[in-house]
Amino acid sequence: MNIEHITIAGSGVLGSQIAFQTAFEGFQVTVYDINDEALHKAKDRIFELKSRYQEDLKATEEEVNTAFDRIAYNSDLTKAVADADLVIEAIPEVVDIKTDFYKKLGNVAPEKTIFASNSSTLLPSQFAEATGRPQKFLALHFANEIWKNNTAEIMKHPETNEDVFNEVIAFAKAIGMVALPLQKEQPGYILNSLLVPLLDAAQMLLIKEVADVETIDKTWMVGTGAPLGPFAILDVVGINTAYNISLAKAKATGNTDYQKVADLMKSEYIDKGKLGRATGEGFYSY
Ligand code: NAD
Repeated sequence: MNIEHITIAGSGVLGSQIAFQTAFEGFQVTVYDINDEALHKAKDRIFELKSRYQEDLKATEEEVNTAFDRIAYNSDLTKAVADADLVIEAIPEVVDIKTDFYKKLGNVAPEKTIFASNSSTLLPSQFAEATGRPQKFLALHFANEIWKNNTAEIMKHPETNEDVFNEVIAFAKAIGMVALPLQKEQPGYILNSLLVPLLDAAQMLLIKEVADVETIDKTWMVGTGAPLGPFAILDVVGINTAYNISLAKAKATGNTDYQKVADLMKSEYIDKGKLGRATGEGFYSY
């Protein structure tokens, strides 16, 4: 594998996690963000990850300190990518911001540099032209809390070079991820392509009063051997997020059942402070 120097562009929730995980596995990492203030925040965010790795992975103080020290910070894009073999983009999920970023990046990055997008909902083909190097561009999608939820969905677009695809798969494995290659573009990748319809169907069964939360979950768990049912999964996702998704679907489709789901989540859960697992209560108590 030729990937040694990695630049993470965008150092918010996911960018800071990708940066620390990559450094933790021994790679040289540079973090890029729009200005020094954003980089200060990134450094604090990354500092806080040290204790999560110690608690969750039983990492030693020396290991987390070494990882922390492997990360450099730079708000000058040209300098931040000067020696990058791979740039992982984790900037806001806004088409114009990403398009503008890829145009600038394509102009200043060395020819060797591979670009990977962590976008959750936008497809690489949308930005391929803006990168100026469509063959060296693809998606590399991580999950929140990357050190525990260690999936990496690696997705080609029609012009991605096969060697580049394989290099990024090898890199994902090298940073401790379970590499999940997608041979074609797919909105929602594999995980959400499976999960979203399941969660949707569960909410529809509830709102149509076919069965209650516990019965729906029990059916799925006993019937398939799954450890969690759809409502327990929604508790992990967070009721606020689930509410926003239902609301957006109600608006987009005009289907009033989605509005009923959103109303139920608001009145019975959000307004009562039951926001899911993180708050100790959602559809279930923890
Ligand atoms: P975030 O808002 O926490 O962080 C975005 C960061 O990008 C900020 O630090 C911001 O200063 C920086 N930024 C803004 N404009 C920039 C620019 N032009 N150049 C460089 N940096 C810029 O966002 P996030 O939740 O980390 O999401 C980032 C990407 O990761 C999105 O594409 C999102 O879909 C994807 N993602 C998020 C999650 C999640 O659970 N949050 C999970 C998987 C993938």
